[in-house]
Amino acid sequence: MTNSTPTVTRDGVVGFDDSEVVTIDQATGAELARYPVDGSEQAAAAVAAARQVAGAWWDLGFDGRAQRLRAWQREIARAGEDVAALIHAENGKPVDDARSEVLGTIGHLQYALDNAEGVLGRRDVPAVQAAPNQQAWIEYQPYGVVGVIGPWNFPLITPGAIVINALAAGNAVILKPSHLTPGVGQWLVRAWEAAVPDFPAVLQNLIGYGATGQALIAAGVDKVAFTGSVATGKTVAAQAARTVTPMLLELGGNDGAIVAEDADLDEAAAHIVWGALQNTGHGCVSLEVAYVVESVYDAFVEKVTGLARGVRVGSDADAQLGPVPLTSQIPVIREHISDALARGATAAVGGLDTVTGDRYVRPTILVDVPADALAATEETFGPTLAVVKVADTEEAIALINAGPYGLGSAVFSRGHGEAIARRLRVGMTSINDALSFLMNPALPFGGRGDSGYGRKHGEEGLREFAYPHSFSAKTGPARFSASTFDRPAGATARALAATRDRILGSD
Ligand code: NAD
Repeated sequence: MTNSTPTVTRDGVVGFDDSEVVTIDQATGAELARYPVDGSEQAAAAVAAARQVAGAWWDLGFDGRAQRLRAWQREIARAGEDVAALIHAENGKPVDDARSEVLGTIGHLQYALDNAEGVLGRRDVPAVQAAPNQQAWIEYQPYGVVGVIGPWNFPLITPGAIVINALAAGNAVILKPSHLTPGVGQWLVRAWEAAVPDFPAVLQNLIGYGATGQALIAAGVDKVAFTGSVATGKTVAAQAARTVTPMLLELGGNDGAIVAEDADLDEAAAHIVWGALQNTGHGCVSLEVAYVVESVYDAFVEKVTGLARGVRVGSDADAQLGPVPLTSQIPVIREHISDALARGATAAVGGLDTVTGDRYVRPTILVDVPADALAATEETFGPTLAVVKVADTEEAIALINAGPYGLGSAVFSRGHGEAIARRLRVGMTSINDALSFLMNPALPFGGRGDSGYGRKHGEEGLREFAYPHSFSAKTGPARFSASTFDRPAGATARALAATRDRILGSD
């Protein structure tokens, strides 16, 4: 990489003035590809090209867009193994995990194909008594040009599901993938160009670091969908606020699992180990901490540690976890482990010795972690799990709700799972499972608090990229009109009196 000098902009953002993005094959460390960095000029040109075609894309209607989205879906399915191999190379995750991203992306496209018109099509609403001569309806109109800024941890499905929703809602889209995984973002756009030759500019990409993302917003997009860290999200939101540009903010999480006294401990341990360690712990909805009721604590710890010891890390075909591609995350993982140890926790599996400079970080299971340790309160974003002993599920609920995040969660209980889950102030909960809400494209995905706002996936995900336009059309003369000056004297007083009698009469 050339000249990677960090520069601090006026907003306090750390950006880079590199002219090139160089990707590496995570398995071998060898150079994979070089991409010139896009700046303000390229961002302005992309937005102008997108704006030129956005109207025609909307004018195609749901059927015309569906025809093209279906062609794109076929192209993604046809070349699924190619993009899985690219995800594996750029991100380092096992090929099967990469294949899951492809499958999920195809599933989100199917959801949009099946539901866009039903969710976003014209919807009639009843006339009201005050204006019975009016026909009323709602249409959802696209914002125009949507800028999508993505992370590296799920380089295809995370930005992909958002891009799909935005396109299906009738927008043109410009994707700025993470500098760690630009090839995957570019692949998605190339697949679009191949499948939809009559509308190539409807989906474009820009490559670069944070400064490229800033340039995209500055170029005047009509909506920004940002997925990334809380710190960057705040900066991006501040920039978008200057032009009152609406945002979808999908930020970090510190997801907790609750293990109740009546949990099936084998199930809980198996799901929690996977939920914490899969994708090397690089998931906004990775389970970071397990709150375990003391009566089942020892048995749970024994099962979790046994399973975690068997997890295979590496780049071989049978590896279950890949490397940490963002090497600056390794000191954070170390800091969280050493903070927990300093506060009296024990590393029942792994520990500081397993987190060296090497990108292949083996799993760490921290037990007897105090609830205020960093490993329990902050997103570690690595292959770790903090196990915290609680007196009862009430304490676990209170600890989860006291945190600044509110993204995902998991509850394990044979008899009270739903009741516990309903009390968690989070966007998503899986009951007696881990991360299962992710697997259903009909379920809205998003958080509250520091985890962000807005939703992707499901009906809410489609509506996120369209604004309601309300219509009220006069269909015939009314007895009197409330919206002209020819209202007869006393008409409003009589209407209020009639309403009063109707409401009080129902007491
Ligand atoms: P990051 O914040 O470092 O980068 C995210 C993206 O923002 C990248 O494309 C980056 O180039 C860009 N960027 C950086 N500075 C910018 C700026 N000033 N203006 C515009 N764009 C800028 O995050 P990351 O390391 O790529 O991703 C990991 C984080 O993302 C974790 O915290 C994880 O929890 C979160 N995440 C959230 C979700 C979700 O759906 N809630 C999904 C995946 C990841």
